[in-house]
Amino acid sequence: MQTNFSATQLADPHVAESEKILRKCVHCGFCTATCPTYVTLGNELDSPRGRIYLIKDMMENGRPADKEIVTHIDRCLSCLACMTTCPSGVNYMHLVDHARAHIETTYRRPLPDRLTRAMLAFVLPYPGRFRAALKLAGLGRPFIGLFEKLPVLRPVAAMLKLAPSSIPPASPMASPGTHAGQGAKRGRVAILTGCAQSVLDPAINETTISLLTRLGVEVVVPEGEGCCGALVHHMGREDQALASARRNVDAWARAIEQGGLDAIIITASGCGTTIKNYGFMLRLDPAYAEKAARVSALAKDITEYLAALDLPEPVRKPGTIVAYHSACSMQHGQKITRQPKELLAKAGFVVREPQQRWPSRGSAGTYNILQSEISARLRDRKVRNIEATGASVVATGNIGCITQIASAARLPVVHTIKLLDWAYGGPKPEGVSERKQVAAE
Ligand code: SF4
Ligand code: SF4
Repeated sequence: MQTNFSATQLADPHVAESEKILRKCVHCGFCTATCPTYVTLGNELDSPRGRIYLIKDMMENGRPADKEIVTHIDRCLSCLACMTTCPSGVNYMHLVDHARAHIETTYRRPLPDRLTRAMLAFVLPYPGRFRAALKLAGLGRPFIGLFEKLPVLRPVAAMLKLAPSSIPPASPMASPGTHAGQGAKRGRVAILTGCAQSVLDPAINETTISLLTRLGVEVVVPEGEGCCGALVHHMGREDQALASARRNVDAWARAIEQGGLDAIIITASGCGTTIKNYGFMLRLDPAYAEKAARVSALAKDITEYLAALDLPEPVRKPGTIVAYHSACSMQHGQKITRQPKELLAKAGFVVREPQQRWPSRGSAGTYNILQSEISARLRDRKVRNIEATGASVVATGNIGCITQIASAARLPVVHTIKLLDWAYGGPKPEGVSERKQVAAE
């Protein structure tokens, strides 16, 4: 794609980076076929190519964002299916991130929108605040129907629908400390405790620590780590996102100094995609660029790490039919497609994949709150495909997907690590039935 940026514009390293990305696009439109919002809404401006044109126009002309571009960029799920499809290697993720940051600094959203976003940025990245908000959600639940009728309150209705009716207690294993590996030492890793997942399902990280230590891996929960910053990054709040990234980089750098790390384990693929991008996000910060690149190189999804660990034979082979849902951030953001399915199959599960033309189930961070109607349409289609597999449990590797699919599916939805842990001697995951089983293939 030809671009017309001035030398002054290109002196801004963010603009220069976006210009490089724009020039790679050859307008072929292959990406439109796999874009869930284009396929659902049928508008070119809701396709990757359409959004690329809008971003190019806004940036070349040095214009502030307007209502049109905000509408179409807000509808983008950041599922990154377009990046997997693109034959020209267009880095849509970095382009849309730049556009979102530009929108955040140049566009004044309507008041209800500003309030909703400010509230999400204030609550979701902080486990204590998020826990308190979930407890308060019970008071608002009887008014969901009323809130849904008022467009400005639809995000509140969406939040209340997603909020679980009970919250598990905080996990003591999330506190800073070291969990020693059993037997011969096979590695030393840090684990991201994160934010929303540690409140909604603390057992995911507890299970991960338990399995890793049984396999001989020492697991460190470093002092000072927190939310990866993805939630605010996707809202264009760059300063807040970079502050989260710097805090985590510092925490993990200390852990590296204090005994080395083989990996930084992440159990939510949305967070993994962001942490693997820290090197890029902090590339212009001389104090952090090198440390951040090192952290990104060490970041591993738990299935990526386990797949490289040469696991022993499982203690039991459950034979349960599992529908594996590959989160967008897992398959497109991190290009992890094989490992979770191979680990489940090796552990004795029968893995089925839902038929899908478009992978996204419409969660994508805060998308299911801010774009609840599109999100619900994508989710319902995904759930129909999952249930058609005949599986008795759904496995996936992202808390956003777990919450979103569980809000509509009749099957239990669990993190992949819980099924693996079960096969390797841990407890059966809650809600998983042992009745519907087949002989392991
Ligand atoms: S990230 Fe997903 S929703 Fe956004 S343009 Fe690409 S394919 Fe479409
Ligand atoms: S597939 Fe890639 S090159 Fe083709 S229009 Fe989409 S982004 Fe541009």
